[in-house]
Amino acid sequence: MNTADLRARLLAWYDDNARDLPWRVRPRDHAAGVRADPYRVWLSEVMLQQTTVPHATPYFLSFTRRWPTVIDLANVEDGDLMAAWAGLGYYARARNLLACARAVAGQHRGVFPDTEESLRALPGVGAYTAAAVAAIAFDRAANVVDGNVERVMSRLFAVEEPLPDSKPRLKALAGDLVDGHRPGDWAQALMDLGATVCKPKSPLCDRCPVSMHCAAFARGDQGTFPRKTKKAARPRRYGIAYVLTHGDEVALVRRPDKGLLGGMLGLPTSDWTVAPPTVLQGAPADVVWREAGEIEHVFTHFSLTLRVLWAEGEAADVVWTPMKGLDALPSVFLKAARQALLTPLLL
Ligand code: SF4
Repeated sequence: MNTADLRARLLAWYDDNARDLPWRVRPRDHAAGVRADPYRVWLSEVMLQQTTVPHATPYFLSFTRRWPTVIDLANVEDGDLMAAWAGLGYYARARNLLACARAVAGQHRGVFPDTEESLRALPGVGAYTAAAVAAIAFDRAANVVDGNVERVMSRLFAVEEPLPDSKPRLKALAGDLVDGHRPGDWAQALMDLGATVCKPKSPLCDRCPVSMHCAAFARGDQGTFPRKTKKAARPRRYGIAYVLTHGDEVALVRRPDKGLLGGMLGLPTSDWTVAPPTVLQGAPADVVWREAGEIEHVFTHFSLTLRVLWAEGEAADVVWTPMKGLDALPSVFLKAARQALLTPLLL
């Protein structure tokens, strides 16, 4: 492969086709000396892990409006941050976000460190985020490899070894391609190629600036890459969600700090177990509960079926919350609350 030609083609394509993203400095401005704000790059990368650009963008805009600098973010109350994060999922990331902002504000006087290694030392900053911030904000020649880049590499080099075992090889192949002159643009060009052209299901090879270098395209089986080891089915758990109302308020409880959705307000629930619970364990009040159907929710490591029960009544040790405030709940509880409050009850 002619690496220099591939780099030149992809960067030229990026100059003309870079996505316009609110955290991004356009290539023309970057060439004129404008630098990306590390805070915005870091925040966007944390938000974009496990979610899409269209979903993350309104959150990014709202966060940067409310907290324009990392010092502003470091001063946020934990509960306010958690509420603002609701809907992005993976709440451990929100806690890490705050820990990292406080470390940058407290230990680095609000200035992000500028090397991959020193970024990696910040709380909650993994290898991918450190590489992305180092490359995009500081133009370090870091190797920024996420699932999109793995897919592009697997196709460019027709890597037969299946994921996840092929990860080190895909990372090494991507590392050999990093452009030392424009590393930030290179990282973003690869991201954009993966997101808009070399798509997971149907790559748009007729629009690809590097198709002449692509081994899978030459063979005609590009859509079959990356090879994957068959996944084990996601296990299922069962539980009960209790929607206790009193007038126009709903009883919520604060979840323990450790564990799934830790520290968040949520509906009272039973434990989530491998078999459906047979008793009303975890109910917040001794009242007559009425069936309100079921909801399904998929977490990273398991799927959850929640039987939803509703009752009107009183309870101690709960946080009474107006119904119109429920939108800030993590989506699994919002779904269950809506199921109980908006659908006809099963008598
Ligand atoms: Fe991806 Fe097709 Fe380009 Fe190969 S030619 S990198 S498969 S879009």
